[in-house]
Amino acid sequence: MPASSDTTNTRDKVQTDITIIGGGIAGLWLLHRLCNAGYNAILLESKALGSDQSVASQGMIHGGIKYTLSGLLTGASEAIADMPGYWRKCLQGEGEIDLRGCKLLSDHFYLWSSAKTTSRLSTFFASKATRGRADKVSGKQLPPLLQSPEFSGSVYKLVDMVLDVPSLVRQLAEPLQSRIFQVDWQTAEFQRQPDGCHAIEIVSGEKSLLLNSSAIVLTAGRGNGDLLKQLGASSPTMQTRPLQQVLVKHRHPQRFFGHCLGAETTPRVTISSHSCDDGSQVWYLGGSLAEKGASQSSDELIRCAQHELAELLPWVDLSEAQWATLPVERAEPLQRNFARPDQAYADWAGNCKNVIAAWPTKLTLAPNLSTQIVDLLTQKGIKPLYSALPNLPLKTPDIAPPPWQTLFGGE
Ligand SMILES: Cc1cc2nc3c(=O)[nH]c(=O)nc-3n(C[C@H](O)[C@H](O)[C@H](O)COP(=O)(O)OP(=O)(O)OC[C@H]3O[C@@H](n4cnc5c(N)ncnc54)[C@H](O)[C@@H]3O)c2cc1C
Repeated sequence: MPASSDTTNTRDKVQTDITIIGGGIAGLWLLHRLCNAGYNAILLESKALGSDQSVASQGMIHGGIKYTLSGLLTGASEAIADMPGYWRKCLQGEGEIDLRGCKLLSDHFYLWSSAKTTSRLSTFFASKATRGRADKVSGKQLPPLLQSPEFSGSVYKLVDMVLDVPSLVRQLAEPLQSRIFQVDWQTAEFQRQPDGCHAIEIVSGEKSLLLNSSAIVLTAGRGNGDLLKQLGASSPTMQTRPLQQVLVKHRHPQRFFGHCLGAETTPRVTISSHSCDDGSQVWYLGGSLAEKGASQSSDELIRCAQHELAELLPWVDLSEAQWATLPVERAEPLQRNFARPDQAYADWAGNCKNVIAAWPTKLTLAPNLSTQIVDLLTQKGIKPLYSALPNLPLKTPDIAPPPWQTLFGGE
């Protein structure tokens, strides 16, 4: 733990406008937005950048069509509808943040149904809900994976896209590296100041320094829960939704990005494709399979996944494939009945004077989250005041490797 308060008079003090805690997509995007707006902002990360949810995500930047599968437009689909276009501009270097170095894995995403559920899908796409954001494809336009005589069902191509998230994290982190620090909470802690604001005391060897900020923004994903406790915040409350993703490493040539629609409103399985360093591919499986799989053992879930793929893609030979699972939690603000939140969330933490807690709830909504945070700062009259980059005795964190590298890395 840091030195006790008797060092208060001798320790150095440094000042920033904003300290962000947590370097996933939310914190990194926010760091750019704040620096572009003239704030002197820094980011503290306790592990590797993108750990937890961001590099474990499927990387889909989606327009929310999967949330409208119930046939109704919800808050989620409204808020998210314009996001693929927004991100596309960034990827072309014409948006709010230059993402030209980020790798695009796919510029489309498919929604397919097996023959049994086709009529529901056709009714859905005939409705106004999709507003021209999806095209029916057949014959030679079908994705190569589904161009089998054994395939029967319908397929729609969505304007959604898929990003390689590790390259996204790198692209966001590199230009602002001098503002990103690795924090070890064994040698750092929050301290409430006489004015009621929180500061962070950082101890290094015999020295300690006090980092003051006009605002501290928590973007630590599931780490926000503990941070809010340490701060004595009375709100917000976090919920976590457990998932267990399945990874299939194989030599099948076709990559695929799509949701398979079953009888429920959550896709039966969502497949994205990622490359390992040894040139082989991994299909990364989410959707209902991963939601239900959260309560299964890894072996049970792998058996279910093998059964699902054999039923949906019987022409694909996965007999030589290697299988693994990844338990992971989605961290979000608490919703009634543990529902999926519709939108990004940011608000001032209760009982804290200068702390904002934030969850994007989706990778896709990280830009919306940053806008909400900048609005909160502006409404409170927090303006850029400080210019000197604080000299902190902290290292630069690494970038987290994706699960398909860590789980199959040694093979
Ligand atoms: C399996 C899965 C698939 C998903 N697929 C998609 C998708 O395809 N499209 C989509 O839009 N969304 C998707 N999501 C949701 C999306 O990944 C998350 O909403 C988003 O990544 C959350 O970003 P974040 O920065 O808030 O949190 P995280 O990515 O969890 O990052 C939090 C960061 O804070 C750090 N941290 C934690 N505690 C502390 C602390 N005390 N001090 C300092 N740092 C700390 C962590 O190390 C980490 O780097 C998916 C989520 C999961 C789990």
